[in-house]
Amino acid sequence: MKRPFSTPTGLSRRAFLVRSGAALSGAALVGPLLPSCAPAAADLSHIQGQLLGPNAAAGHLLRDPSKIPAPTRTINTDVLIIGGGVAGLSARRWLHRHGLTDTLLVELDGHAGGNAAAGHNPTSAYPWGAHYLPVPDVRNRELLDFLQETGTLSGYAPSGLPIYNDYHLCAAPDERLSIRGHWQDGLVPAVGISADEQAQTARFFQLIERLKTAVGSDGRDAFRIPLDASSATKPIGSSTRFPSPTTSRKKATRPRRCAGT
Ligand SMILES: Cc1cc2nc3c(=O)[nH]c(=O)nc-3n(C[C@H](O)[C@H](O)[C@H](O)COP(=O)(O)OP(=O)(O)OC[C@H]3O[C@@H](n4cnc5c(N)ncnc54)[C@H](O)[C@@H]3O)c2cc1C
Repeated sequence: MKRPFSTPTGLSRRAFLVRSGAALSGAALVGPLLPSCAPAAADLSHIQGQLLGPNAAAGHLLRDPSKIPAPTRTINTDVLIIGGGVAGLSARRWLHRHGLTDTLLVELDGHAGGNAAAGHNPTSAYPWGAHYLPVPDVRNRELLDFLQETGTLSGYAPSGLPIYNDYHLCAAPDERLSIRGHWQDGLVPAVGISADEQAQTARFFQLIERLKTAVGSDGRDAFRIPLDASSATKPIGSSTRFPSPTTSRKKATRPRRCAGT
């Protein structure tokens, strides 16, 4: 009697051939396939979750005002802030700190935070979107005050430099890109781009390096956060205040992969 074929893992001959064949096109050069290397239909039903984004249902109500319920009361306020993302929340904080307390912040969604909203589960709190803040410029007193209020900053060293709570600090993330079957360091493709694109990319980063330390003729940084602390004049030695889209397209930088065209 002929014994039925079976692999060490108990796969039938038919299942073995089907699985090996399915994987061969991608692995013909790496030798005989083990059944465990072949892709198998995975049951992912145990992974729970959902994709979250802005509340489109509420947002789309604005398209058809007839669906919006009639107002039931009138509220008078000195300042109305529309949107409870970081911008709206920080505007309200600023106003209150400057004595303007009659403010009303309205939010479309069921919670504040916008792109920087957070959630909680039994294990921990977690961010939905934005959650990193680069260590701020020491001149940005307003942000430093906020960080001190939240315990991220515990005080100042005699040198005047802030002392951060280690628990709140993390190393800047290293980025990797998966491209053409390989992982590479950094987000700019290192393979498969033309010499021209490489040169444009290099020029782009040189330009950014220059702009980081560029100063306007009024002595202020060309780019600084908050933006209204930035120079109102063009950087010294530069023909434009900001590299305009036309300039950067014409001569500086336009790798197709960055411009999305
Ligand atoms: C996935 C992701 C990760 C990010 N990571 C970082 C990071 O690590 N560090 C960082 O600095 N930045 C990060 N960013 C960018 C950062 O999230 C945003 O720059 C910032 O949160 C924008 O804040 P905002 O208040 O301007 O806008 P939003 O966060 O978009 O807030 C706008 C708010 O207004 C509400 N709204 C809109 N229309 C109306 C209306 N008609 N009436 C009432 N309310 C309305 C919205 O519901 C929303 O809550 C990230 C962004 C994303 C998407």
